[in-house]
Amino acid sequence: MGTGNILAVVELEEGAPTQLTLELIALASVIAEAKGGKVIAACLGAGVGEAVGRDLIAGGADEVHTVDDELFEPYQADAWLPDLEALSSEVGPVAILMPHTNVGADLAPRLAFRLGSSAATGCVDVDAEDLCFTRPCYGGIAREQVSFRSTPAIATIEAKSFDALPRDDTRSGAVIARDAAVTPDRIRTRVVERDTKRAAGVRLENANVIVAGGRGIGGPDGFADAKELADVLDGAVGASRVACDLGWCPPGYQIGLSGKTVAPDLYIALGISGAGQHMAGCGNAKTIVAINTDKDADIFASARFGVVGDCREILPHLVEEMRSIKR
Ligand SMILES: Cc1cc2nc3c(=O)[nH]c(=O)nc-3n(C[C@H](O)[C@H](O)[C@H](O)COP(=O)(O)OP(=O)(O)OC[C@H]3O[C@@H](n4cnc5c(N)ncnc54)[C@H](O)[C@@H]3O)c2cc1C
Repeated sequence: MGTGNILAVVELEEGAPTQLTLELIALASVIAEAKGGKVIAACLGAGVGEAVGRDLIAGGADEVHTVDDELFEPYQADAWLPDLEALSSEVGPVAILMPHTNVGADLAPRLAFRLGSSAATGCVDVDAEDLCFTRPCYGGIAREQVSFRSTPAIATIEAKSFDALPRDDTRSGAVIARDAAVTPDRIRTRVVERDTKRAAGVRLENANVIVAGGRGIGGPDGFADAKELADVLDGAVGASRVACDLGWCPPGYQIGLSGKTVAPDLYIALGISGAGQHMAGCGNAKTIVAINTDKDADIFASARFGVVGDCREILPHLVEEMRSIKR
């Protein structure tokens, strides 16, 4: 172990690496440079091959291992672990990086157990020399640094913590197609049905602009207005837990400690109080604009621009104003 190589676990969407995967590969290349190793991407999926391998090389990977098998989809830990374990023993990485998604958060501790190491989930920064990872703690009000006593260090990385590298199609690297190590008898669970509710438009995690509503937005109509503003700004709609629990918007909109973590350039918070559990999911936004009737609402402490007022009254004017600016 300890070759200086970094193993990056790839997630795909419609056959291409997700934005977070590309951010992860950019981070892996920084660590690999510090450690004198290579970025090796592990790409498991049905129908994966040369094309996705080339995308990953263009995104900064030095070598890509593809394993094409239907057993990998939909994701199940039992299916993914044998191949990641085998690849890890082969390339001896000092670190294994995964996207901090449902898949990564499930996989990381399981793989760590199998490799006799440990995992840090939800990391937002790293000291490449010391492999010391930083992540939010106590509901996002503090940060802790995590270093590893064992190898490989396994970490899941939050979206938008690092910039992806500009695509470079002149980069070269091997794309190696491997036989799957997993066999059907090793899979102990069976997915019998999937109920997917996907919001149309820009994905929340990838959005540069998010318009988020809380209890103060008043109901589903408020979310319809928020969607209009998000559409004008090419953004996505998010929500506080209260708004989701009230059924005003889909649960997938929830941002915060028990929802999604986002880091857009602009976060417009409408009728959101700014509870620590909500801010844990959006505190890394570059600019927060808050509209709230309560001048003492906590959200104003995090907001760069604040409007004390009724968001239900202001929102339609904001949509109109933004439309006229864009015209
Ligand atoms: C373990 C745990 C995990 C949690 N996870 C999450 C999470 O992931 N995400 C999350 O969001 N919460 C989470 N919460 C809940 C969190 O503590 C808060 O209760 C929640 O964020 C509050 O949502 P809110 O701001 O929409 O509602 P409220 O706290 O009720 O705030 C509503 C705000 O709207 C303002 N307002 C009212 N009317 C208007 C108007 N017309 N115009 C403008 N402003 C108006 C009010 O002044 C107020 O500030 C969690 C809690 C726990 C205990």
